[in-house]
This record gives sequence, C-alpha cells and structure tokens, in this order.
Amino acid sequence: MPDKHAFLSPSSSERWYNCTPSAWLCEQFPDLGSVFAAEGTEAHRLCEYLLHVMLGIPDADPRPSLTYYNEEMEEAAQGYAQYIREKLETLKASGDTPKVFAEQRVDLRMYIPESMGTSDCVIVTEDEIIIIDFKYGMHRVPASSLQLRIYALGACELFRGLYDFNRVHTVIYQPRIHSVDEAEMGTDELYAWAEKELKPRAKAAFDGEGEFHAGTWCRNCRARRCCRELAEHQLAIARYDFRDPPLLSDEEIAEVLSRLDDLVNWAGAVKEYALQEALNGRKFAGWKLVEGKAARKFSDDAAAAERILAEGKDPYEKRMMGLTALEKLLGKKKFASLLADLIVKPVGKPTLAPASDRRPEMIPVENVFQDETNESEGEKNNE
Ligand code: SF4
Repeated sequence: MPDKHAFLSPSSSERWYNCTPSAWLCEQFPDLGSVFAAEGTEAHRLCEYLLHVMLGIPDADPRPSLTYYNEEMEEAAQGYAQYIREKLETLKASGDTPKVFAEQRVDLRMYIPESMGTSDCVIVTEDEIIIIDFKYGMHRVPASSLQLRIYALGACELFRGLYDFNRVHTVIYQPRIHSVDEAEMGTDELYAWAEKELKPRAKAAFDGEGEFHAGTWCRNCRARRCCRELAEHQLAIARYDFRDPPLLSDEEIAEVLSRLDDLVNWAGAVKEYALQEALNGRKFAGWKLVEGKAARKFSDDAAAAERILAEGKDPYEKRMMGLTALEKLLGKKKFASLLADLIVKPVGKPTLAPASDRRPEMIPVENVFQDETNESEGEKNNE
C-alpha cells in the first residue's frame, strides 16, 4: 500500500472523485513537486504560526527557515489571520461564543478509506461550523470545492457530538487573486452527498475500479503526460484542424477557447516528459535529441566590463526600477506619499476570459460609440 494518507487525500479529491482509476495509476509516477507547491506549503506554515500567535498558542516563528518568504507572503498570511480575527469579532458581537481550531486534523475514514486531512481553520459556532481554507495559488478555487466539502465532513464528524450546529459554511481565502469565496449547505445535505456520492466513489478509487474520465482535474494528475484518456480528450479538438477560424461557428469557437489553456499545458507536459525520456535513452520515431539554440554570453561579465571601460566606453545602461521594487525600496508609506500622484494605471489590453471571471465585462469602444449614437438618435426622434 502506498503512502496511506496521501493516496486518497482531500487535496487530490477532485481527481480521484472524477476519475477513480487515477488513484492507483498515479502511484506509478513519482511526485515531482514544484516550486509553487513548496511556496504554498511555506505560506501555510506562516498562516498557522500567525493564527497560533493570535490564539495565544505557543509556536516557533518559522520565518527564518522559509526559503520563499517575502513581503507578498507576509501580507497574504497577515491578511488571512486578520480575516479570521474579524470573523470572530463579528460572531462575538452577535452574542455567539465561537471556538477556533487551527490546523485541525480530521479523520475521514468513515467515508474515504485510509484518509485523513488537516483543515487550515475550523470555527464552531452555535448553529454553524465554518471551514476556512487558505490558498496561495493563483488558480481560483471555489468554496464549494470537493476538498472543502470533505474537510467539512471530517470536522462535522469530529464536533457533532459536542455542538449543535446544523449548517456548514466553507470559505476559500485566496489573497493573491483578491478572492474570498464562500458557500453554505445544511449538514443533512452534506451527509446525504457523502453517503450517496463520496463513499462509493472513494471505495471505487481505493479498489482501482471505475472509468477513466478526463477533465480539469487532470492538471494535477501525475499520469497526465502519458495518459491515453487525456490524450484522446485533448486531441478531440483536432477535429477543427485545418479549418479557417472564420468558418467555425460561435459554438465551435467557444468550445475551442474553453479547451485551449488545458491543451497548451498538456502539450507542454508531454513535450517535457518526452525530453526526459529521450535523455534517458528512449527513442521516439521521427525525433532525435539535438543541442538547443544558445545566445552568446561573456564567461566573466566583470572582466569584459573592465576592458570596455578601459576603452573609454560605458558598458552599463541605467534604468529605473519597477514599481514593486521601488515600493520595497522606499517602504509603502513613503512610496505612497512621494509618488501616488504620478501613478497611473493604463487600461489593460482586451483579453478573452471565461464568463465565470470576476472582472466586469468590457464593452468594445465601437459598441460604446454605437450605443451613444443610437441613444442620441433615439432622443432626436423623440423630440
Ligand atoms: S490524466 Fe486525467 S484521465 Fe488520465 S488518469 Fe489522470 S485524471 Fe484520469
């Protein structure tokens, strides 16, 4: 049996819930980790520490040992602790006596074989249980996500004998995309879903049964670089191959757009995998390893600069630092008092985003002009 607690973990639930055979398939591939995952782990540790400080729980300051610690991480974790502080104050002001549990271990084995999890923060009030999860990533995660529902289930199991709540409130606090997403459901609804949907799927995943099913969850699958199901899913888009984009219907263009990011990511992952395999000696028909292009560079920049200076020429160019670096240099307050009136934010370049994106819809200038023309023509006709 592989690492028992990671096998059907809440954080990978989107994958094994939707594609049950992926659980065992993933075991055949090493977890390569990533800088983003390491950054996220460190940011979580800082959040835990700040929450402990807030709650008066002794804890050692982890900052000196964090590799990716920076101002952004500090602000994100402080914001998280502040959010929880305000939530508690609001609850207390309404007469409640909330109980807070930081990094609460939850036992999920009633529903998911061999599975345990740790919820970032659980608050138990008189009539609801609040599950708050900190996300340091930039990819938006909704509060209704499987991971949070599973944490909520574990927390309900843990506390329901002691408290009398009947509602579950989940929150995703995601500072780097300025998002705090919230969702609610009754505990009855949560238990019904767990019995009817979660339990059978978790069992199928544990037993290595069910059908492969590709979708957005494949992004976090270790098998994605060589999974046949995903390859077929991605290549299905090839049916639009060689057709002139203007000849595609609006529905077809919408479908292509909704699949492009995943398709590009997947193509990159396959390419990277094939390169690694080729470096290990594997051969792919029609392909070979070659030396990539490389730009010329000095073996010793300082020595080169010295020689150029000796020729009476200046090899250095002077550039102003970026706004973020200058803010760091001057400090936030000084930066604002000194430069606020000189900062402008140009209108961003139009870009297509899914309808679920939180930014307001942009109206093309031509349409604004058209609307105004129509309005003034309407006014004239009414005069
Ligand atoms: S890549 Fe997708 S379809 Fe393939 S095993 Fe993983 S989750 Fe399932």
